[in-house]
Amino acid sequence: MAKTIQAVRGMNDCLPTQSSLWQFAEQAVRNTVAAYGYSEIRTPIVESTDLFKRSIGEVTDIVEKEMYTFDDRNGDSLTLRPEGTACVVRAGNQHGLLYNQEQRLWYMGPMFRHERPQKGRYRQFHQFGVEVYGISDAHADAEVLMMSAYLWKQLGMTEHVRLELNTLGDNHERAEYRDALIAFLEQHLDVLDEESKRRMYSNPLRVLDTKNPDVQAILVNAPKLSDHLGEETTQHFSKLCELLDLAGIQYTVNERLVRGLDYYNRTVFEWVTDSLGAQGTVLAGGRYDGLVEQLGGKASPAVGFAMGIERLVLMLETLELVDTSLSAVDVYVCALGDNAQSQAMIISQSLREQHSDLRIMKHNSGGNFKKQMKKADQSSAKIVLLFGDDELENDSVTVKYLREDKPQSTMTMSELSTLLEEL
Ligand code: ATP
Ligand code: MG
Repeated sequence: MAKTIQAVRGMNDCLPTQSSLWQFAEQAVRNTVAAYGYSEIRTPIVESTDLFKRSIGEVTDIVEKEMYTFDDRNGDSLTLRPEGTACVVRAGNQHGLLYNQEQRLWYMGPMFRHERPQKGRYRQFHQFGVEVYGISDAHADAEVLMMSAYLWKQLGMTEHVRLELNTLGDNHERAEYRDALIAFLEQHLDVLDEESKRRMYSNPLRVLDTKNPDVQAILVNAPKLSDHLGEETTQHFSKLCELLDLAGIQYTVNERLVRGLDYYNRTVFEWVTDSLGAQGTVLAGGRYDGLVEQLGGKASPAVGFAMGIERLVLMLETLELVDTSLSAVDVYVCALGDNAQSQAMIISQSLREQHSDLRIMKHNSGGNFKKQMKKADQSSAKIVLLFGDDELENDSVTVKYLREDKPQSTMTMSELSTLLEEL
């Protein structure tokens, strides 16, 4: 026998047993964005490599080692998108959606990063994200956070997630802080590991994010970003905190929170959970006021977030928040004999058109009554409609109940219609 071909490592199939959970999560997302009046944007999965180098930053985990980059047949360097924001900004600039305009956008779809696969971390994964352009007021930051809180509520997850918040200041403040931080790190070269040393000049804030306990220990005395923030940044942040208080959204300020992408300024945040082990960040985002200009557009403030759908689905599963036993079929249609089979097919079709909310499965593989009833049972349908020669002659149908203790009964087609209305 030929060897079977496996999926690419770190890229998952979503099997029929899991798809109802995915659909539940995706529906909650759609309901949430609709409740806030956001519009969907869809962009290609493949973009020019330059787009991600210029936006995410050359010295970030993503660009340094996680991108799926290849030359196409023309020799152009292309990359499977590792995230959505750069793509949305590219599209917004290209189609003139951002200059001097407000946009409230959302997207959902696959992203690709060559990471070490583990629970909650895959090479193809899915993100839902929102992006608000053209509003620098802290009300926009507050709204995207309220929207994420609303989503947790829709999913019944509120008590399983918590919000961490920080402000990174503007570029000028960050540059000042960078210098102070580099000067501090230079005094501790003996403790820094290779990665921290490599990053300390290119992206020193990322050193704050280290998992190395020795480095963490010296960082306790490192200069604080909050000491370098100016009046406007501080006001923006306290306005946001005030709005969250007003909305009853709890948060903790985590001064170590810096995020892995270069383009953030001012607000950054993460919603984290304890129910997934190591990959605890479910949703992350912040403000990126410089990105539109950095990618060639006229400057426009922006704020948004991205959520990992696999992590969300894992949470729904772990916490058993969704009833996945729900069946995909309400009515199973059986027929005995060739003529009855064909007629039942046409009747099933007109029933689908009359009762568009019902899920009607027609038996298509012949066999005797016993075989057909076995399939009906496996389908998890509530009732079986049975057509034999007698029924067809009398324009009637026999109804059998699979989940209720009721006797079978033969009825006219108009009686059936009434029964299906109430199913
Ligand atoms: P992490 O710290 O977990 O690597 P990140 O900082 O790389 O996350 P972002 O780029 O901000 O994450 O992406 C936002 C969200 O997308 C994450 O919080 C997570 O839920 C999800 N995500 C990111 N990378 C992966 C992945 N490889 N597999 C599954 N989900 C992912
Ligand atoms: Mg990552």
